[in-house]
Amino acid sequence: MLVPQKPVGSLLGVLPVRDDLRALEGYHSPQVDVRVRLNTNESPFPPPVEWRDALAAELSRVEWHRYPDRTADGLREAIAAWHGVSPEMVFAANGSNEVLQTILLTYAGAGRTVATFEPTYQMHAQIARVVGSTVVEGDRNDDFTLDPAEAERVVTASRPSVTFLTSPNNPTGLVEPADRVEQLLDLDAGLVVADEAYAQFADWSALTLVDDDRPLVVTRTFSKTWSMAGVRLGYAIGPTWFVRELEKVVLPYHLDTAKQIAGRLALRYVDDMNDRVRQIVSERERLSEALAAMPIDVTPSGANFILFRPQTIAGRELWQRLLDHSVLVRDCSGWPRLADCLRVTIGTVDENDAFLDALREILV
Ligand SMILES: *Cc1c(COP(=O)(O)O)cnc(C)c1O
Repeated sequence: MLVPQKPVGSLLGVLPVRDDLRALEGYHSPQVDVRVRLNTNESPFPPPVEWRDALAAELSRVEWHRYPDRTADGLREAIAAWHGVSPEMVFAANGSNEVLQTILLTYAGAGRTVATFEPTYQMHAQIARVVGSTVVEGDRNDDFTLDPAEAERVVTASRPSVTFLTSPNNPTGLVEPADRVEQLLDLDAGLVVADEAYAQFADWSALTLVDDDRPLVVTRTFSKTWSMAGVRLGYAIGPTWFVRELEKVVLPYHLDTAKQIAGRLALRYVDDMNDRVRQIVSERERLSEALAAMPIDVTPSGANFILFRPQTIAGRELWQRLLDHSVLVRDCSGWPRLADCLRVTIGTVDENDAFLDALREILV
């Protein structure tokens, strides 16, 4: 007897994805085995040993057969206390990327528009497209600042439901001035999301503007400053009405017990974190000056990385030649509006020296 065959999606049995996803490329950051890895903006330092020991001790007491605290109260209280806000203004998730995804599922989605100002963090447009939104990309000036007239043009023409600003911006490192955030709020740019993954390295944060009367949200992460990229933990600080809506959308028990403990304990080591930030900022200034003394254009950075453009050699070639010296930086040279640009993450003193030595050998 013949067994009825299952229908297949197309030739070769490969099922076609949603029509609107076909053009998407996904997120690429090559992970190559090298001596000096300065390409993903992580902290060069591991978390404090005391944190690791406290985490191990608490983990040994967890009741693993129980679901986690669904509303992550302990973690949210610790984050709220640190920022001087109420826990009802804190939403936490698996990395700030999941925070961004939940925001877009809640306030954007199909039939709505999301505005970004390019170049900026690629995941904003990427996640917006994945959830079915139309993405409108405004353009920054040649020096990567955002012209208020361009901000107004984009918002007025497209009436976005969500508008992103990244401050300090990735990959440029530029800090967005307060009046740009205020301008977007005045323009009625939907939910204004200030992605502050690198805020601790900068001297200004939009957190001071967040309250229940404004559609403004600040997102943060434990991946960069906190030396905890392996934990996957991020959060948003926003109006209480915003947090309540996100809690309806995110999957139940999305934050596992271990992660809630890891984040809560990390906040006991704010002083260590501030020390690390000071070291990285001082290294950033040293590196910026050293780069500027070579045939290189340097974008001023308020983050833990620097965007730069060699004047005498193609960006892609410089990237390859640094790799030949076993130094891996981020190749942004093929990205729109970033011709010949590379981005280097600030590492330890030794790593930064290795990067500078390689650069001098190649360029000078
Ligand atoms: C690294 C980065 C993130 C991602 O953070 P995770 O918490 O690791 O998901 C978000 N926004 C910007 C601008 C980043 O550079």
